[in-house]
Amino acid sequence: VPELPDVETLKRYFDFTALHQTIDGVDVHAPRMLHEVSAPTLRDRMTGRAFERTERHGKFLLAALDDACWLVLHFGMTGGLEYFEGERNPPEYTCLLVRFANGCRLAGMWRRRLGRISLAGGPAELVEHEGLGPDANDPDLDLGSFKRMMRRRRGAVKAALMDQGFIAGIGNVYSDEMLFQARIHPQTLTRTLSERDLGSLHRALRHVLRIAIERQADPARLPSTWLLPHREQGARCPRCGGKIEKTRSAGRSAYLCPRCQQKRS
Ligand SMILES: [Zn+2]
Repeated sequence: VPELPDVETLKRYFDFTALHQTIDGVDVHAPRMLHEVSAPTLRDRMTGRAFERTERHGKFLLAALDDACWLVLHFGMTGGLEYFEGERNPPEYTCLLVRFANGCRLAGMWRRRLGRISLAGGPAELVEHEGLGPDANDPDLDLGSFKRMMRRRRGAVKAALMDQGFIAGIGNVYSDEMLFQARIHPQTLTRTLSERDLGSLHRALRHVLRIAIERQADPARLPSTWLLPHREQGARCPRCGGKIEKTRSAGRSAYLCPRCQQKRS
């Protein structure tokens, strides 16, 4: 489930493989993945150009074709990228295939075809158009602004963290991890969080994103002291040895340690 650390890892892969190569052609294998753009338009705008640089905002990856035209990829639940030599067949679930003049290809794969491919005028335009909140990893989202935002927010804290219009990039799995590390129950109402809770949560948010990005969002490489490797009902809490519990929160299944993350009224 690509969340911010996964998309950041895809961005780095894109930067490492696919920049500064002339695009020879573009094949759209799954037109329903296109959002507000047709396959011929996409092909016209991309062919003959090269990706100059990439940006990420929340779970969106943007690749600049020039200052005013960016390819936008959203990976939904199952998306990924693969760069490969042109003689090979594209990987399974390829929905978008970018062919470069050097013979290499970049495939965008979406197994469940949730996600999308579009064009935008730039990162700021995308943020505006999608109504996205600040990127969760933006250094400007410091403790002061985090507290100000959280104090104005109603509802449960897990729902707030996962709301892309509030803070962009965090999904179901990493919100559980942040709340576990901050010892906050996912259903706690945001307005009841203490100064200390908000400090712990902000610290956990920063820490979780930093470590997950460093370890390329590979679950097998995440610390065993984290909730994430134990994210199943009945597993043992790495902190207290208690049983991990599964609940529903914000319409998703949340995992938590009821001992470490006590519910307050
Ligand atoms: Zn525990």
